[in-house]
Amino acid sequence: MQQLAIFGGTFDPVHWGHLIVAETALHQVPIEHVIWVPSLNPPHKQAALFQHRLEMVQKAIADQPAFTVSLVEIYRHGTSYAINTLIDLSTFYPNTHWYWIVGLDTFQTLPRWHRVDELAQLCHWLIAPRLIRGETIAESQSICNQVEQELTKRSIHIHWQLLTIPLVGVSSSLIRDRCRDGQSIRYLVPESVRNYIAKHNLYGS
Ligand code: ATP
Repeated sequence: MQQLAIFGGTFDPVHWGHLIVAETALHQVPIEHVIWVPSLNPPHKQAALFQHRLEMVQKAIADQPAFTVSLVEIYRHGTSYAINTLIDLSTFYPNTHWYWIVGLDTFQTLPRWHRVDELAQLCHWLIAPRLIRGETIAESQSICNQVEQELTKRSIHIHWQLLTIPLVGVSSSLIRDRCRDGQSIRYLVPESVRNYIAKHNLYGS
């Protein structure tokens, strides 16, 4: 049975934080590939055109053969829900043990995800601690325990583990804000992504 990880996100734009998380997962868990899935219509978010976000991910991961980007989202209409992504990818990659990579902030919202009762148990959750409110690793662990307990109360049983990563405070919103303010984003995103943003004048840069 192959071991694959899904890394879903808006990637508006992709940045070094995403890349460090995905690379870490690859080395800390026996997975063969990380499948990046840019969401077409992310719930609760307005985002740049899918085509731009996709191209930036393609450029960012080009030199890592264990990373691949999936277009499953293109063939679906309406809001992008994780459960549909997993079902669709399972038809492309049968006989797979699935992992799902998320940042801590996203994992906290898991109990409210669409059809979480089905989704949560279909994959092993890999959680990246994230500098949001300055949580320590112990606090991150306890947040994950709380999410697990909340789900257990609803008879939803999950497997999860925290990744050990250097905490990186970069976020897509920070990149967008800096572009809007005319500030440099060099060293916050790969050069290929920085050039793409400039060329297409994304985010008011
Ligand atoms: P935004 O600032 O617009 O909310 P974002 O930086 O969180 O965007 P997303 O594409 O929404 O980027 O994130 C995709 C996934 O990557 C989410 O699970 C998110 O928690 C995680 N993630 C993003 N940046 C980091 C980071 N610096 N450290 C750990 N996890 C991260």
